[in-house]
Amino acid sequence: MPTPCDLLLSNAHVLTMDEYFTVHAPGSVAIAGGVILAVGNLGAEYEPAETMDCKGRLVMPGLVNAHTHAPMTLLRGLADDLRLDVWLLGYMMPVERAFVSPDFVALGTKLACAEMIRSGTTCFADMYYFEDAVAEATAAAGLRALCAQTVLKFPAPDAPSFEDSLAAAREFITRWKGHPLIVPAVAPHAPYTCTVEILRACAELASQLDVPLHTHLAETALEVEYSRREHGMPVIPWVMKQRLFDARVLAAHCVHVDEGEMRALKNACVGVAHNPTSNLKLGSGVAPVAKMLQLGVAVGIGTDGAASNNDLDMFEETRLAALLAKGVNGDPTALPAREALAMATRTGARAIHLGDITGSIEPGKRADLIVVDIDQTHNVPRFSRDPSAVYSQIVYATKSTDVVDVICDGKWLMRERKLLTVDEDALRAAARDMARRIDAFLIQRERSVLQKLIAIGGAAEEESFEVQVKARLGSVDPVLPALAGDEITVIRAVHYHQYDTYFFFDDPDQGRLRYREDEFLDEQNNVVSARARLTLTGPSREAAFGSVLLFRSRFFAPAAHSPRFYREYFKPSREREIEKDRRRWLVAFRGVQFYVHVDRLVNPHTGDLFLEVKSRTWSRRDAQDKAIIIAELLELLGARPDEAIAEGYVEL
Ligand SMILES: [Zn+2]
Repeated sequence: MPTPCDLLLSNAHVLTMDEYFTVHAPGSVAIAGGVILAVGNLGAEYEPAETMDCKGRLVMPGLVNAHTHAPMTLLRGLADDLRLDVWLLGYMMPVERAFVSPDFVALGTKLACAEMIRSGTTCFADMYYFEDAVAEATAAAGLRALCAQTVLKFPAPDAPSFEDSLAAAREFITRWKGHPLIVPAVAPHAPYTCTVEILRACAELASQLDVPLHTHLAETALEVEYSRREHGMPVIPWVMKQRLFDARVLAAHCVHVDEGEMRALKNACVGVAHNPTSNLKLGSGVAPVAKMLQLGVAVGIGTDGAASNNDLDMFEETRLAALLAKGVNGDPTALPAREALAMATRTGARAIHLGDITGSIEPGKRADLIVVDIDQTHNVPRFSRDPSAVYSQIVYATKSTDVVDVICDGKWLMRERKLLTVDEDALRAAARDMARRIDAFLIQRERSVLQKLIAIGGAAEEESFEVQVKARLGSVDPVLPALAGDEITVIRAVHYHQYDTYFFFDDPDQGRLRYREDEFLDEQNNVVSARARLTLTGPSREAAFGSVLLFRSRFFAPAAHSPRFYREYFKPSREREIEKDRRRWLVAFRGVQFYVHVDRLVNPHTGDLFLEVKSRTWSRRDAQDKAIIIAELLELLGARPDEAIAEGYVEL
């Protein structure tokens, strides 16, 4: 009695990608109830409801994309050729805060699914916001996925606080657990975007609900440097100390890990997702993949999000992984084609903790497979002397467009290059529409330096008014005795070294942005502390009272990033650096508080001395009153008001 089955793929060149790299050529695959029933030289022992003659084409496991952010297809090409911090904090996160909703996520995921099916991917590991919408769209498209709900310390598009996102993750996991296509998970974004509390809570949640944990680890050298500085150790030991590896972890990147850390990853059964394009594009480096594999770490291949790749093509990614390993090791035998393809299939499935259900064509595993035409012009001729030649053909010459048919969980998703579960035309139109809206938002924002400042967070929109006057000093001789005299009361005195970088813009209405670093000095001129601030000064002077000016429009922000970050983000048309030695006194004079500065210019190195006197003010009337007192104070300090210079001491 022949065994009934749903589908028989016959007359195929079957690459099982099992542990022994078994190949059946010709061979057949029998599928029933979404499961692989048998593979090999099958004859009349199966009675299929449907038979497909593969005409000698290749049948292999569907590819496993071990790390992506599917909805980010909608941000593809939005901002490229930028450093990771400018790209992420300056563009991705602000746009995500403004646009990401369940609808956005559903649309982006459907678009990603269409692209993944076309390019032969049947399973992917995702991490994003509103993961419920990702899971729903993925299941509707018929793909398999590990869907991980993001948790991080900043307010996210789908949660105002980490407690909310953790609660959402728990709910999400409970809802999807046991689904035939979706494996839910939790995703603490990365050590540097999470607190210790978040890392521990996520690991606990994953262990308790018995689901994987998806995160980013050791992506950049900067991240490792930060970890060493803040925690006294690199990233991997640090997260281990927080018991992150109590969970079944999938770690994206692991670019900057040493051998000891690789062993720790192996011992903790951490799966690693290697994302060569993303790491190259963001200049992060190249993960030591060959070494990790040699030590027994399960390393899969991922595309990362489409905003940093910019596509989800696993054929391209696998080829790059194989080539890069050879290039960085100076060894053409590193990561042979067969091993690279294993990373994209069986090992990748193991890395994302789905190794027992997908990643190879073996009886009992789910029927996730693809049919590939390797007889296109760019891929002929074919040699049979070396059994490994077929792997070279796939990794080095096959293109994702050579994928003809796709089956996931036993169901057809693409037949003869026609997508069966998603409406590509409608998706393309909706994606273009979304791009128009995002474009309009960014065009508007880019016009205003203030808006850009607010978009990266932390900018307190604090407007202040002040009156000030500046004068050239011959020497400090008259100033110091005057300050010590009876008429002036010194409330506070500080001494510091001040480094200013001014950014100017073509449009003078944007004002100018100043990045200021103060190094506070003690009596012996040793640096005791430092701080950095950003100040956006409005373009206009409100009024002039003789040589005293009334300024307005200043917006302060703590400068959390380097001048390099701000330069790349704000793209000023011109900049100027000034360095000075500043002594500052807060004084009371005639019942009014003033700041008195004596500045010695260090760069440009003129050695010139300047006196600056200023005071906060609230109204034009108040400013006028203070202008009169300032003039008196200036005279007392030995600087003649008629010597006062209006535009400051350096032509900016
Ligand atoms: Zn990522």
